[in-house]
Amino acid sequence: MRKFQEGAFFVEELKQRIRQEGKIRGRNEVLKVDGFLNHQMDVAFLQAIGQAFRQRFAGCQVDRILTIEASGIGIACMAALAFDNVPVVFAKKNKTKNIAGDVYISPAESFTQGKRPYNIFVSKEFLKAGEKVLLIDDFLANGSALSALIDIVHQAGAEVVGAGIVIEKTFQPGGELIRGKGVRVESLARIASMSEETGVVFCE
Ligand code: 5GP
Repeated sequence: MRKFQEGAFFVEELKQRIRQEGKIRGRNEVLKVDGFLNHQMDVAFLQAIGQAFRQRFAGCQVDRILTIEASGIGIACMAALAFDNVPVVFAKKNKTKNIAGDVYISPAESFTQGKRPYNIFVSKEFLKAGEKVLLIDDFLANGSALSALIDIVHQAGAEVVGAGIVIEKTFQPGGELIRGKGVRVESLARIASMSEETGVVFCE
């Protein structure tokens, strides 16, 4: 299995993959990295992502990782292994029979589906008052998904340790919104701009 570099070297590798394999869609708004991150998954690469989050949040107590289905799940699982196998909970986007009973609910808007509104659900069984919760997701755009996750952590009386994001698009307002709430956001790659015409992704 290929070994990935740690720390800053790994971030350079991530940026290189984004530049080389990323495809820009939706009038310069959506970046597709589904060859390695969120459709086909390069698991060894996700493992390195998990370790990078561990480095960023070194010294922080993390009792639980919370993410949102579907793209966040694989990344959160690899981060959980790096955090000594803490439990992972993912917020569901549909209230199926499997999640009947007592749930926390929060509204969000889908970035990739034209601001379509939806609710996210987390069973009260899996988030407890006083826990320290690390949020993980693949992308940060407008901050709606993270805002809903933060709301659910607060509903539970738990505490947000921070948010680990693989790719933050800094030309969209999510980073400012979430940091404005006093939440520490650690993004591995930050994209300042991208162009569908030229296919160029500019990483900070
Ligand atoms: P936000 O709620 O911050 O507007 O968007 C974050 C969510 O939308 C993430 O959970 C992610 O799955 C999805 N998302 C946002 N921007 C992108 C993007 O450029 N590419 C992909 N593949 N997903 C995105």
